[in-house]
Amino acid sequence: MARDDAPSEQDGDQDGAATPDDKDWTWVLQRRCDECGAEVSTVGRDELGERFFVAAEEWVAILEENPAVEVRPAPGVWSPLEYGAHVRDVYAMTSERLDLLLTADDPVFANWDQDEAAREGRYAEQDPEQVADELEAAAQRLVSEIAEIEPGAWGRTGTRSNGSPFTVETLLQYVLHDVVHHLWDVTGQQDAAASLQLG
Ligand SMILES: [Zn+2]
Repeated sequence: MARDDAPSEQDGDQDGAATPDDKDWTWVLQRRCDECGAEVSTVGRDELGERFFVAAEEWVAILEENPAVEVRPAPGVWSPLEYGAHVRDVYAMTSERLDLLLTADDPVFANWDQDEAAREGRYAEQDPEQVADELEAAAQRLVSEIAEIEPGAWGRTGTRSNGSPFTVETLLQYVLHDVVHHLWDVTGQQDAAASLQLG
C-alpha cells in the first residue's frame, strides 16, 4: 500500500512528510502494514508501553549515531533529524491525548497540522542530540502514563477531528504504528519493526 501522503517532488513541497491528522490511517488497526511490517492490533495492553519504549530507543540511536542525520535522502523527503523531531512531538502529543481520554468524557481531539508543526518547530535546524534527549523524555512520560492506566479505563472513548472514534487502547496502537512506520521511513528496513517483534 502506497502512502498517499508521501511527499513528492512534483508539488515542490519541501515540508510535507508526516502523516496528516485528517488522513485515514485507521486501517492499521485492522491489518498488518505491508510497508513497515507492524501489526499493531496484535499488541496487547500489557505490551504497549514496552513497545513504545523500544521504538524510542531506536529513534535515540538514529539521532545520536546516524552520520547523515541531517541529510534529506531526496527532495521533499524528511531527514532522519526531521522525522525524529516529528516523532518526539508525536510522543508528547499522545501523552496529552491520553490525559484527555482519561479525564474527559468522550473528548474530540483538536486537529494537529503536522506540516505546520514541522515548519514552526524548524525541525531541520534542531540539534540532533537535543532532539534525542527530548524524545527520550517524552517517551518516558508516555510509558509511565501507560503503566498507570487502570484496567477499566482502556475502553474510554474519544474522537479525532476527522470523526474516527478511538479508545485508549486503539489510540495507543494507532500511534505505535506511526512511530514504527517512521523508523521504516528512515531505515527502509522492516527489520526495525521485526526487531520489535511486530512483524
Ligand atoms: Zn506501517
